[in-house]
Amino acid sequence: MKEQTLAIIKPDSMEKRCFGEIIQRLLDEKFNILKMKHLKLTREQAEKFYEIHKNKPFFRDLVNFMTSGSVIVIALERENAVNYLREIMGSTDPGKAAPSTIRSRYGSDIQRNAIHGSDSEQNARKELSFFFAQYEIMENISE
Ligand code: GDP
Ligand code: MG
Repeated sequence: MKEQTLAIIKPDSMEKRCFGEIIQRLLDEKFNILKMKHLKLTREQAEKFYEIHKNKPFFRDLVNFMTSGSVIVIALERENAVNYLREIMGSTDPGKAAPSTIRSRYGSDIQRNAIHGSDSEQNARKELSFFFAQYEIMENISE
């Protein structure tokens, strides 16, 4: 069954100008791009999106980082999309991520780790609806 998930190319990847390579990697891994938006998160949006982390010591830094530049939010589709994206992203800490994962290749540190991916089907639905209306993710723009 095809599944949908959300990826966010984070500000560090935009700054490093490697977002094109990351998008190509997603295509090479057989993800379909349903919709893609280039935007800058407001402070409110970043705080809401990462609400589950609001009591963590790194929350403030994370919100500062995610609003420090633009991001690309991508609605993706693939078999087993949620878990497969997490697999090719690698661990949160790029230094611990398996070789050839996106974070190992493009991430800098545990915060500036290149990409976000939803961690469950339920969160994928929630996160997709954070950025996209249902009608926007019905068409496959990468086919
Ligand atoms: P993910 O699901 O692998 O992205 O990791 P988490 O959900 O645990 O954390 C969300 C994001 O917060 C990560 O992707 C990092 O950008 C950031 N983050 C996580 N842990 C730390 C930490 O210990 N220190 C800092 N500064 N940032 C962190
Ligand atoms: Mg997470």
